[in-house]
Amino acid sequence: MASSAPSYIIVGAGVFGVSTAYHLIKKYPNASVTLVDRDAFDAESRVAASWDWNKVVRADYDDIVYCQLALEAQDIFESDPLWKPYFHQTGIYWICRSEYAQDVINNYKRLGRKADLSAVPIDEARKLYGGLFEDADYTGVKEVLVNKTSGWAAAGDCLRAVTRKALDLGVKYHTAEVATLLLDKNGHCSGIKSSTGEVLRASHTVLCTGAYTPKLLECSAASSGLADIGAGSRIVAGGITTGMTKLNDESYERFAAMPVGVQGYTAAQGPFIGSLPPTKDRELKWWGQTIFKNTREVLPGRYFSAPPPKPDYTQWEVSGRLKEDINHANKVFYGKNGASWKMEKHRICWDAFTTSSDFIISPHAAAKGLYIATCGSFHGYKFFPVLGKYVVQMLEGRLSPELSDKWAWDRERPDPSLNPDWPRFEMKDLLEPVRTSNL
Ligand SMILES: Cc1cc2nc3c(=O)[nH]c(=O)nc-3n(C[C@H](O)[C@H](O)[C@H](O)COP(=O)(O)OP(=O)(O)OC[C@H]3O[C@@H](n4cnc5c(N)ncnc54)[C@H](O)[C@@H]3O)c2cc1C
Repeated sequence: MASSAPSYIIVGAGVFGVSTAYHLIKKYPNASVTLVDRDAFDAESRVAASWDWNKVVRADYDDIVYCQLALEAQDIFESDPLWKPYFHQTGIYWICRSEYAQDVINNYKRLGRKADLSAVPIDEARKLYGGLFEDADYTGVKEVLVNKTSGWAAAGDCLRAVTRKALDLGVKYHTAEVATLLLDKNGHCSGIKSSTGEVLRASHTVLCTGAYTPKLLECSAASSGLADIGAGSRIVAGGITTGMTKLNDESYERFAAMPVGVQGYTAAQGPFIGSLPPTKDRELKWWGQTIFKNTREVLPGRYFSAPPPKPDYTQWEVSGRLKEDINHANKVFYGKNGASWKMEKHRICWDAFTTSSDFIISPHAAAKGLYIATCGSFHGYKFFPVLGKYVVQMLEGRLSPELSDKWAWDRERPDPSLNPDWPRFEMKDLLEPVRTSNL
């Protein structure tokens, strides 16, 4: 007999999906909550942007809504035994070329939040942390924001631990590639169909599918004949390169206690670049400055950006040109101090972007029983502890008007030219040059 109790399929076990599952099962211990992901949660390699060695955790936002939300999340990272082991409060050293430092300091003040943060003149900043950033690029820099309360999280380890906790509480985990949504001709969504033809049904289907979301929606639009299911220009899949070096004993001694480094640029100059302190394996990480789309004919006549079609998004195949991006990042942070480091690991990481960098946490306007919760836009990880709280509020129709407007499926979206992190390149232009033979 069909049950009338609400049931939930959450597609995607990154931070949006796992946080949603965790908050749902905590609030409704008897609910049927199933996470579906193409990768096992403890797989050796996963495509999730959330699955990573480390991610920056900070509330240093010029947008007061994200500043407040990040403080709420960071309080949990700092105090809750589930999250605390993964948070490292190393501080952040943010080289600012705009009013960013002052905006962040003002936001902390407006929120009545006391923290050890200040805007430091360049000459003084160069000497901090034993001069680690003395040789960084300070061209066009106004000042350096130093916030001792920010830091980073061991991202993949934390994701695994919280997933395990959600499973302990009763969430089910199903490893499968979702091919399409189950949609009737009235736009009612009743679950998903996997690539092997398996069908799972629930009263609520929540897509937390990151960079894959436009493709899954477009495939579902094609299979149902409901064109409005597609994301259109709302969501763009973007990729970015990360790289790591393993520090030798001497460098490790010098860099072990370093803060997170950020090179901030204006929209006209390009995206911000980051460098994360060494992991327990002594690996120091950067992300690059080239954010790109992979626009191609995904379905007949349908051109849009999607991660490469292989199950691993070809994430470990990084071209020489993209590796160069990481060498550049090394140079603008450490100059001569990092000149001898060899880059050992590279990965292309895919995320879902919106033009304003706002998430989408919203019912899908063209379907009933279908909800979207993703679009981290390159900054979503740090909200992991609280994302699900707000997704549950959205599912219950209790999200504040301010947040439901900000995260709506349908809203006015600003021109992306104002967004420094908007994907501006095409992946095909960044691959190795093709050599043609004259023979
Ligand atoms: C290089 C890089 C650095 C970043 N640095 C930071 C940082 O320092 N701090 C920060 O806060 N944020 C950072 N971010 C952003 C952050 O990682 C993302 O915003 C966030 O992890 C997105 O979470 P998600 O749950 O939406 O997507 P994901 O983590 O990508 O998860 C999506 C999941 O959906 C699954 N999936 C997709 N399609 C299907 C399907 N059809 N069937 C089954 N499963 C499917 C995937 O397997 C995946 O597990 C960074 C992002 C990148 C790329």
